[in-house]
Amino acid sequence: MPRRIKLPHRYTVWIARPGRSPLILRLSVVVPVLVLLLVGLWAGTTLYLAQMARKSEELSAQVRALSSEIRVLSRELVAKQNENQALARQAARMLDRLDALEKDLGALKKRAGLKETGQKKTPSQVPLGAGRPANTEELFSAVDARLKALKAELSGKVEPALFRTLAREAATPRGYPLWVPTYIASGFGVRKNPFGRGYEFHNGVDLPAWYGTRIHATAPGRVVAVGWSRIFGRYVKIDHGYGYQTLYGHMSRIAVRRGQYVKRGQVVGYVGSTGRSTGPHVHYTVFVNGRAVDPRPFLGLRLASR
Ligand SMILES: [Zn+2]
Repeated sequence: MPRRIKLPHRYTVWIARPGRSPLILRLSVVVPVLVLLLVGLWAGTTLYLAQMARKSEELSAQVRALSSEIRVLSRELVAKQNENQALARQAARMLDRLDALEKDLGALKKRAGLKETGQKKTPSQVPLGAGRPANTEELFSAVDARLKALKAELSGKVEPALFRTLAREAATPRGYPLWVPTYIASGFGVRKNPFGRGYEFHNGVDLPAWYGTRIHATAPGRVVAVGWSRIFGRYVKIDHGYGYQTLYGHMSRIAVRRGQYVKRGQVVGYVGSTGRSTGPHVHYTVFVNGRAVDPRPFLGLRLASR
């Protein structure tokens, strides 16, 4: 049979006091138990609080580390966004410049005698509808695609056409064959025969000038005929290519040989009155693909270099 410990109901506490009689306290057994309980509670609470404080310190350190990391990241993000925006702006500027280039290309095409039809509509020329803003990648791929198309069109189509046009223009007779004041004394077409009755077809224009005035080639080319004709007297015929030929008649003297290449403006002979002529003048004919045409539109063309 277990022995039951019998606890005393009361404790006596002696508190010594120097020079005086000791203080005697008679305490119930409940008091030390209560004290012990309180001490235990205090210790537990303190420990718990200390632990919590440590944990919260750890947490706040983690929060600090995280927030500094977030700051760094957000700075990087802002930098990246700025960079991205700068790139997008650059792409937009390139697209604007492409617009201008495409307009220039259109002008070049016109100059080269190409039709503007068949030109693909570029994104900025397409009627605008609702859409989200394009991102940088899309902008750059649009720039790339349009640049490639532009380059292909320029080198494959426009440039060769332009060269042909410029070469043809360079070969086109322009201006007067005389560099002194003159006038059209007799025009192109059917006219009264100045030497007899009836009408004749005058295949050029007659430009009066002093005897011996220099006659200039109206375009570069090769002298294909130099000689004498009953009608034109001493004459020179030049082939300029592209179907263009010019003839200068009634010369007093010829200054070129057959087969010779002449520049625009080069002296080919001198004004005279040889052949069927009533006074010193140059008879000037322009042939297009072997047919004489009215030289007036060609006379009106401005000389770029004179
Ligand atoms: Zn004539």
